[in-house]
Amino acid sequence: MAQLARLMNGFEPSKISEIFALANRLKADGRDIIDLSAGEPDFDTPEAIKRAGCRAIDAGETKYTDVDGTPALKRAVREKFARDNELDYDLDQIVIGAGAKPLLFHALQAIVDPGDEVIVPTPCWPSYRGMIRLAGGLPVMAPTSIESGFRLTPEDLRAVITPRSKALMLNAPGNPSGAAYDAAALKAIAAVLADHPNIWVVTDDLYEHVMFDGRRFETPAAAAPEIYDRTLTVNGVSKGHAMTGWRIGFAGGPRDLVGAMVRVMTQTTGNPPTMSQAAAIEALTGSQAHCAEWAARFQARRDLAAEMIDTARGLRCALPDGAFYLFPNCSALMGSSTPDGKKIDTSADLARYLLEDAGVAVVPGGAFECDPYFRLSFAAADDLLREGCHRIQRACAALR
Ligand code: PLP
Repeated sequence: MAQLARLMNGFEPSKISEIFALANRLKADGRDIIDLSAGEPDFDTPEAIKRAGCRAIDAGETKYTDVDGTPALKRAVREKFARDNELDYDLDQIVIGAGAKPLLFHALQAIVDPGDEVIVPTPCWPSYRGMIRLAGGLPVMAPTSIESGFRLTPEDLRAVITPRSKALMLNAPGNPSGAAYDAAALKAIAAVLADHPNIWVVTDDLYEHVMFDGRRFETPAAAAPEIYDRTLTVNGVSKGHAMTGWRIGFAGGPRDLVGAMVRVMTQTTGNPPTMSQAAAIEALTGSQAHCAEWAARFQARRDLAAEMIDTARGLRCALPDGAFYLFPNCSALMGSSTPDGKKIDTSADLARYLLEDAGVAVVPGGAFECDPYFRLSFAAADDLLREGCHRIQRACAALR
């Protein structure tokens, strides 16, 4: 019988897609579901960006481009890195991909040998584990806690480094915790890495534009120039410019790593969508006013949702520094029972109860390697968010 690769044994799909599919099934059955599981802004792509994409199609920009992106978009990315991040990359240090996701995957393909360890602070975005495994590596989780604001401390990092450590993944503001680092915290992490010059740093800066309370976004290669030569800075237009469907990400880093990623891309994905590249130039070089405007709206929603969730029975949540998620702890609800007698022993049980009985979709903490927690997205219209949080409050109060 034809067999799948051994790697596929126990290789799971992202748990976020599972809850998304279940919520969609219930919606298709006519159930009133408030979806707070989504990881994308509910705002529309700004008009000027859409028009740039349409203009490109009308001008016949519908064919292949250079695999690593058009020179015009690379110039826009270079300008963006210099303007926003004080990072200086030459054009041959920049690569454009079909989203941050494939770029992270290509980076791991280019870095990891079989058996190499890749350190991931948790809670983390679910795809890191899968990508590391597909590259033949071993994900090594470095747990952080609600008490330390879900930030990786130098001690947390030191505790997991071994002679097989090959890379450290960072993501801040983080999905799902919203935790961000200031420059001093990044310098402290870099100081630990000073003793381990063989460890690459891959930073996923996708939520750069969603920062709260006047905090400044910091990225490792700029905050700690001593690790510039071994840091890949990955970013994209998905979250900051409401362009999740356009599929454009970009990265800057050392020439040898970027070159290796491009070699992988020539044999796999090819170039990112041509018309989306034209739209991304407008996103990066046109007005940035929507970024600040949306961050302010996300902050107001964060405050609304955090207050409602923190006062729900059995839930406790930290205030995120950025991104658009709350990540409440629900340990006080473990061991309780639903009104019709079902046991709630895990955050997955709780998420299922919230979905099936209360009509609110959230993602259980197991998806992010951190339990018992769940992720609630506040990238939803204010009235939906308020009603969703009310439903969660009522559902938690009804647990026995
Ligand atoms: N990195 C993180 C932390 C994310 O949350 C996501 C999407 O949810 C991605 C990467 C994927 O980004 P893109 O849409 O640019 O592929």
